[in-house]
Amino acid sequence: MPEPIPGWYTAEEIGWLRACRLCPRECGADRLAGGEGICGTDAGIHISSICIHRGEEPAISGKHGICNIFFTGCNLQCGFCQNYQISNPRASAEHPALSMEGVMESILRILDRGIHGVGFVSPSHVYPQVMAILRALEKTGKKPVTVWNTNAYEHPESIARLEGKISVYLPDLKYVTPELAAKYSGARDYPEVACAVVKEMYRQKGSTLQTDEAGQAVSGMIIRHLVLPGHADESIRVLEYIASHLSPRVAISLMSQYYPPGFPTGRPAPGRTLYREEYARVVDAFHSMGFGKGWVQDLESTGYYRPDFDRGHPFETGS
Ligand code: SF4
Repeated sequence: MPEPIPGWYTAEEIGWLRACRLCPRECGADRLAGGEGICGTDAGIHISSICIHRGEEPAISGKHGICNIFFTGCNLQCGFCQNYQISNPRASAEHPALSMEGVMESILRILDRGIHGVGFVSPSHVYPQVMAILRALEKTGKKPVTVWNTNAYEHPESIARLEGKISVYLPDLKYVTPELAAKYSGARDYPEVACAVVKEMYRQKGSTLQTDEAGQAVSGMIIRHLVLPGHADESIRVLEYIASHLSPRVAISLMSQYYPPGFPTGRPAPGRTLYREEYARVVDAFHSMGFGKGWVQDLESTGYYRPDFDRGHPFETGS
């Protein structure tokens, strides 16, 4: 944590960081003094990489990719995390805090290459840091599409405060069953919280995903759901929730890329990839519920999306 307190925070944000209840974990940690909360992240800007990402959803990546900011640490800590290298509670301590100047330099270098979007990946525990980056971006006069790429374990009021600041919401909806959320994420209240979060996003954006002439999303929401091996029924319940409480017109990114984590995450995780038949059941349900917008990953995707955050570019080999 840089000393003294960086000038990029507002008084209200400093208050949030001093006794942190920014997410439903509500640790009360003094993040100005260190990263003692569940997310393991202090009040600094800890980032694993800022890079051009050609991710899973074509509408987010566009033709040329998006400038993704991968924050370290995470408030959820799922047993099956696919980004455990950078999400684990020690990750922020392993990535020294950056200056705002350094962060902006990296972002602007990428935007100057013609990239139109900036994505905040795992932003829930670094809400004040993201607010500060958004203010710094505004000062440059740049108006990129902004993407809030989140696990959805955050206060709905925080999402309400983002209205007008975030162009595209990209939340997960991992489970709707408290027992599963408790088992894999240690967060029995995840379903209640995340459902309220996606409802707030839906209130702001509705089901229309606006795209530009190149097909890149400029406003709206896309809900991501990763199908877990052995839990096809839960995936179907998640889809039923979205269809009945939001709308089947919401864009969905149905993901099959699960693979057992290669790290001891400290929580249980399914120990295999998906069976063809169980994924087919979820895909059939997706279509029969009338979902028409979005993306359904090929089952073969499990071999494609394995980031290595020790590489200069985590999603591309050989760079
Ligand atoms: S953001 Fe981190 S420190 Fe704050 S309440 Fe959540 S887990 Fe705890």
